Amino acid sequence: MILDSFETRPTRFHDVSQDKWGSWIWQQQNRLRTPEDFDGVVNLSEPEVRAFIDASNMFKVAVTPHYAALMGQQPSCPIRQQSLPQVGELEVWPFELEDPLAEEQFMPVEGLTHRYPDRALLYVTHNCPVYCRHCTRKRKVANPATTSSNPQLDSALAYIADHDEIRDVIVSGGDPLSLSNARLATLLRRLREIDHLDVIRIGTRNPVTLPQRIDDELAQILAEHAPIYVHTHFNHPREVTTQSVTALQRMVSAGCVLGNQMVLMRGVNDDVETVLELNRLLLRHGCRPYYMLQCDMAQGITHFRTPIQTGLDIVAGLRGRIGGLGIPDFVVDLPGGGGKIELTPDYLVEERPHEAGRELRFRNYAGKEYTLVDVVR
Ligand SMILES: *Cc1c(COP(=O)(O)O)cnc(C)c1O
Ligand code: SF4
Repeated sequence: MILDSFETRPTRFHDVSQDKWGSWIWQQQNRLRTPEDFDGVVNLSEPEVRAFIDASNMFKVAVTPHYAALMGQQPSCPIRQQSLPQVGELEVWPFELEDPLAEEQFMPVEGLTHRYPDRALLYVTHNCPVYCRHCTRKRKVANPATTSSNPQLDSALAYIADHDEIRDVIVSGGDPLSLSNARLATLLRRLREIDHLDVIRIGTRNPVTLPQRIDDELAQILAEHAPIYVHTHFNHPREVTTQSVTALQRMVSAGCVLGNQMVLMRGVNDDVETVLELNRLLLRHGCRPYYMLQCDMAQGITHFRTPIQTGLDIVAGLRGRIGGLGIPDFVVDLPGGGGKIELTPDYLVEERPHEAGRELRFRNYAGKEYTLVDVVR
């Protein structure tokens, strides 16, 4: 069942009208930031209060009323895990890194990471409606001092214009939809003016955390520059609300091509049933599961880490239960800037020589075995 956050709004917000609830400005202004703000929302557990006090000065807390309305009464709730500080954050392991993907090292100009020859990642803001506890860019997200300035953006755009091997730009952050419509319109126009770009992408969690942000005016701007590829970040079926569905529909109508990047997290979505339900909901609303990402090596998120095998088992478990459209690539972003690699389940059972090449025996999704002659010459 799809939740409507207005229907499930906490007692704290009972007097709020539907109009206000639907306004992203109101949602943004009424974000929950302190333990007291959660009175009349959820009863924080003792460890949650402790983590709130100790961890929130390391990485800011903000939760939109919309997202808070999805919280359950158990601390194990996937929404709480992702948005309320956890005691696990206080534990930094030696293998964890401040900049796990070496994004700062691959920065030819401030605010732009150029790792793959054909693609560049452009950071336009470090603000987000909700600060995800698993964020890979914790080191700078939520820090207003690191927000990109106009001259910085100018030089990043000049760099892209000067490098015609770049065909694909991913507008990222923070959350790029934290920019005003006017700034987004200018940015998209300037990117479209660069003739060698085939693909313009926006990576945003607003459809999950602040779906009201995708208003008609924004949809109009997206439509003017279609097709914009939008990477959403849904991690759990509970996040697919009535409000989110409206946001997805608006983007689809605006000619956006939607793909979801899910982060695999222990206790949040590390089982086949949860991912299956999420992916069915997303496909129903025009959003294709693109990546399922292994938690990277950011600091203080070891409590979220799953063994690689868990991801492989989920991908294998999806096969046969949902069409290929619903099966994302399982991806690890290699620490130190190695880039992404996809890991796939091993279906090969046995290999034997054959006069035409070799004979391979595979196990299918249902565990049955089949033989194939692989002609090699
Ligand atoms: C993830 C990423 C991209 C985009 O990778 P795709 O596999 O094309 O989605 C580009 N640049 C950087 C630095 C990245 O981390
Ligand atoms: S929306 Fe993205 S950038 Fe912002 S806190 Fe969440 S994961 Fe990090």
